[in-house]
Amino acid sequence: IIANAVCQPDFAEDMVGAVILVLDVTEKEAQEQYRREFTANVSHELKTPLTSISGIAEIIRNGIVKPEDIPHFAGKIYDESQRLITLIGDIIKLSRLDENQVPMERETVDMLEMARDVVQQLSSVARKNGVTLVANGTHGQVQGVRQVLGEMVYNLCENAVKYNRAGGRVWVDVQQVADHVVLRVKDTGIGIPAAEQGRIFERFYRVDKSHSKAVGGTGLGLSIVKHGAALHHATISVSSEPEQGTEITLTFPAA
Ligand code: ADP
Repeated sequence: IIANAVCQPDFAEDMVGAVILVLDVTEKEAQEQYRREFTANVSHELKTPLTSISGIAEIIRNGIVKPEDIPHFAGKIYDESQRLITLIGDIIKLSRLDENQVPMERETVDMLEMARDVVQQLSSVARKNGVTLVANGTHGQVQGVRQVLGEMVYNLCENAVKYNRAGGRVWVDVQQVADHVVLRVKDTGIGIPAAEQGRIFERFYRVDKSHSKAVGGTGLGLSIVKHGAALHHATISVSSEPEQGTEITLTFPAA
């Protein structure tokens, strides 16, 4: 806190009062620090795939790669480019939420229908991973920004599929409980150690960096969920057991 007392010495005799200016700079400084860290993280995350792409291009240009190996290296360039595209997409989504640049037209969204749409979108990834993914429950209406609600449900379900194993299951359940709509995403996946559960909503935080990279994570998915929840006055709770699975619950005020 910075406090400034202002008075004019020449008029001190006639002085009848003083102006005290109190500014809370703690919040501002924290935001500044946050921004600096975010920029450093983004730069690092963008640089890694680009370095790999340019390294591969370099060895191809120098004729070091045998013609029969070209498809393999082309595949690597493609994968790294996809990683960049997903990352940039997530950064744009997050900064839109951060700066309240979300179109404010709210509409009534049925969360069960939303969950079923997401299950449909992820069905081929789930099948590829050998994971069964289903959505059930009752209809529950939320007043919100459809696109953001879709991104939130998608990110939770995608994680439940990604951090899972062949033969695993994911259930999405929607219930209207009194004046709330409760959406639960439960999986039988690898789980999250208790000490990490409080950190997974931080930007770029991953429990296991190499695993996340292997399954295609950006580390921003749950930050988008957190910001989206704040926008919709929803609460988030996590319950997880390593090697058993994870359940993440979003509780929205009902429309
Ligand atoms: P990512 O893009 O790496 O998946 P997220 O922000 O979506 O990033 O999640 C952050 C981290 O939380 C993940 O890297 C993973 O370690 C952990 N995590 C998220 N959801 C789950 C889940 N359902 N089961 C196990 N771990 C999870």
